[in-house]
Amino acid sequence: MDALDIASPRAAAASPGLDLRDALQLLAQSGRALPADAPPGSAAWLQALIDALCELSSRDPLTGLANRRQFELALGQELGRVARSGDPALLLALDIDHFKSINDHHGHAVGDAVLQAVAARLLECVRPMDTVARVGGEEFAIVLPNCPPGFAPAVAERVRRRVAAHRVSAPDGRQVAVTVSLGGAFAPQWVRSSPALWMERADQQLYRAKAAGRDRACFEPTVAAEVSAEEKGLLFGASPLQDAE
Ligand code: GH3
Ligand code: MG
Ligand code: MG
Repeated sequence: MDALDIASPRAAAASPGLDLRDALQLLAQSGRALPADAPPGSAAWLQALIDALCELSSRDPLTGLANRRQFELALGQELGRVARSGDPALLLALDIDHFKSINDHHGHAVGDAVLQAVAARLLECVRPMDTVARVGGEEFAIVLPNCPPGFAPAVAERVRRRVAAHRVSAPDGRQVAVTVSLGGAFAPQWVRSSPALWMERADQQLYRAKAAGRDRACFEPTVAAEVSAEEKGLLFGASPLQDAE
């Protein structure tokens, strides 16, 4: 296959409605570059382009964390895994305390630096298997597979302390302190749920933490549920996927 000149009319005709130049411009704006050794139009080049666009669509540009869309996909996968295995999984919802006043006192650019600093602190506190996301303006979330209830307060406290211990330097030399509130909820075991419902439960705990004074974590009470082997069989016995898993 000869290399396709992406700027040529032939390329435009071959992909009506899809102009690769738009995609390349998006990548350039995000500061990403395609590998120089793959000739434009080659299979390797197209694969690199697709990979780079997928990466772009799943990341928050300011912090580099997973974006909300990507996080919901991760939550859906985790819910499926918990429903099959019964392993515990924790969702932490986090919100920066009084972030509006940080913006008001120090300016939006310092606010952005605070968001980046918080993102970096969160990544320092978790395992590679955990997913950290920016799910809204100053809202973050972490999903922690295989996190037993007894371990949850320690994880949340590690995150809370790590954020509170850090200072962001403003251009005028002032040191900006920042705290976060956290809410935690476990995935329902042996039951199919939805990312939205799980997020809602973690958010309810986050509101409790805010109402209780901020800079703290609240958790949904866990119900110790024993599921017998017979019940597990009833749950999955009718699944056409059972033999394939
Ligand atoms: P609370 O402790 O109750 O959470 O108070 P808060 O001030 O953090 O919450 P509020 O929802 O009142 O303010 C959130 C602020 O976050 C308002 C908005 O301007 C700011 N914000 C949202 N996205 C960004 C962003 O990308 N960069 C900056 N610098 N600020 C942002
Ligand atoms: Mg908020
Ligand atoms: Mg806030």
